[in-house]
Amino acid sequence: MNNGAFYKLSYGLYVVTSGGEGKFNGQIANTVFQVTSEPPAVAVSINKQNYTHEHILASGRFAVSILEETTPMTMIGRFGFKCGRDIDKLEGIGTRIGKTGVPIVTEHAVAFIEAEVVGQMDCGTHTIFLGRVVECDVLDTGAEPMTYAYYHKVKGGKAPKTAPTYQGEGSPKPASPAGKAVRYTCTVCGYLYDPEKGDPDGKVPPGTPFEALPADWTCPVCGAGKDKFVKEG
Ligand code: FE
Repeated sequence: MNNGAFYKLSYGLYVVTSGGEGKFNGQIANTVFQVTSEPPAVAVSINKQNYTHEHILASGRFAVSILEETTPMTMIGRFGFKCGRDIDKLEGIGTRIGKTGVPIVTEHAVAFIEAEVVGQMDCGTHTIFLGRVVECDVLDTGAEPMTYAYYHKVKGGKAPKTAPTYQGEGSPKPASPAGKAVRYTCTVCGYLYDPEKGDPDGKVPPGTPFEALPADWTCPVCGAGKDKFVKEG
């Protein structure tokens, strides 16, 4: 088997929120898809270890926010690499309460979809929840939705181990071009610091070598310090 075939599948990048009775959580998901149009239904694949999984099971409802291309890595890191059991991931994030009572993330979202769970499938590590759509709307007609390819290629993002598309430690990595400035990888989340790109979210201009980053600079995805980075390769 050549697992590279999986990289040819296209996805988006979404925040899935759920909960009830004053306790809510959200997480990044890339596996959200429309299943039927009459009636409109969507499905989402969620890791059983994730706190959001507990919330969807208990409440039977979820909301999906479709992120825009310009979503900062700090926000993706907050929802994708931190655990809602440790921090309130929705604190300080622009949300509004939807028809289902679940907070919808409106910040950096081009559109949202709210659903009630009408079916689920046990997929081993993950559960696929099938949701009947109860509300949806476009929030920003001018913004481009972020694709998973854009997240990887342009933003330098990686998949956490709990993602359905995680490929393991042996997954193919882009080679560091010969003669170019050395790139550094975050050992916590896999984010790649590329001096040619800098860190636009952190106001680090392109052309800044890793060594020249300020001592208090942190990984734009997971918040780890410089000491958690290792030279690529
Ligand atoms: Fe990181």
